[in-house]
Amino acid sequence: MTNATDLTLGRRVMAMIEELARHTDEPGRLTRLYLSDAHRRAADATLRLMQAAGLNAHIDALGSVVGRIEGADPEAPALLIGSHIDSVVDAGRYDGNLGVVLGIAVIEALQQGIAPACPIEIVAFGDEENVRFPTNLSTSQALAGRFNPAWLDGRDQDGITLRDALVRFGGNPEGAAALARDPARYRGYLEVHIEQGPLLEAKNLPVGIVSAINGITRARCSVIGEAGHAGTVPMNMRRDALAAVAEMIGIVERAGSTRTDTVATVGVAQVQPGAINVIPARVDFTLDARSPDDAVRLAMVQDIVTECQAAAQRRGVEFTIEPFMESPATPMDKALIGQLEGAVRSLGIEPLHLSSGAGHDAVAMANLCPSAMLFVRCKGGISHNPAESITVEDADVAARVLIDAVKRIAT
Ligand SMILES: [Zn+2]
Repeated sequence: MTNATDLTLGRRVMAMIEELARHTDEPGRLTRLYLSDAHRRAADATLRLMQAAGLNAHIDALGSVVGRIEGADPEAPALLIGSHIDSVVDAGRYDGNLGVVLGIAVIEALQQGIAPACPIEIVAFGDEENVRFPTNLSTSQALAGRFNPAWLDGRDQDGITLRDALVRFGGNPEGAAALARDPARYRGYLEVHIEQGPLLEAKNLPVGIVSAINGITRARCSVIGEAGHAGTVPMNMRRDALAAVAEMIGIVERAGSTRTDTVATVGVAQVQPGAINVIPARVDFTLDARSPDDAVRLAMVQDIVTECQAAAQRRGVEFTIEPFMESPATPMDKALIGQLEGAVRSLGIEPLHLSSGAGHDAVAMANLCPSAMLFVRCKGGISHNPAESITVEDADVAARVLIDAVKRIAT
């Protein structure tokens, strides 16, 4: 399906992945939370890789590593390429890191050929996973001019504020606002990321093009019924909160299944009083509903609410829902999607368009400039797990697609 290659690029990408994977806060497994010691070491290693590739690189006030090469026209708007180097606890080595080292590999390859027409910046963001502090893509939002100063006062589970952690890391809490870029100076942002889902594997494709990053609705729901003796209250006289929620989980599952590209999940359900011989009196549960199309997502959530209310009424229980997060979908840029499509086709690969169920730095960067993402097949669709893996062949394909796309955009 793809042109023969000696896998030089794929091997180079894997070698850089190995190098970054050494930097962990927990021996024996990969954990690299934002502003941790391991994050600092990984940022320093990324800085060295960027400098060796000929980039003019530094670590910015919030700990992102940024490297730049000038183009033939230094005044031309720059192309940004990046992803993140922070991780979840007990992570895989490709999530985020892949997009950063692919950017560096592209620069290494370009340095051997013709110079790009415009400047190119490679960015390794530090706060994508949102694990340590109560933030949301803080390092990429800073570039988009949307850093929330209140984030600096947020604390990790040890009570350390982001501000103090940043100072200890060697960053500058007062420097966040100055990181905002001028949108007129940037032509686009490209992010390569492992798919974190099973679709590419099922379609037998090494890469796919992201059409949109899903919008998300999250809500807390409660059902209040009535406790009673599990032995003495007849079935037709019960107001069983858990039995009602069982029906509601079915409603949520159907709502997510019967539409295109939607997912809907009840991830938490807490039963009270929670005893073997007591009819459940109250259940608190969560709803997480996602779609690449905001109108579709809102209609799906509305249908869930209407049907859950009807089920509650039939059963004589009380249903309440309290949405606490509405994050709109982020459509990827049509022109950049077209460039990626051309690059994928040039390798003889059918361009598959898919939506992203997970959030990414591209959500923040789309506030700054046109943004697009390329997904790379990962084994079993597994991520946020040490079993996360990709093949050297797929890494090679991703590198060649990215190089071709960059040539289309920046030369
Ligand atoms: Zn990621």
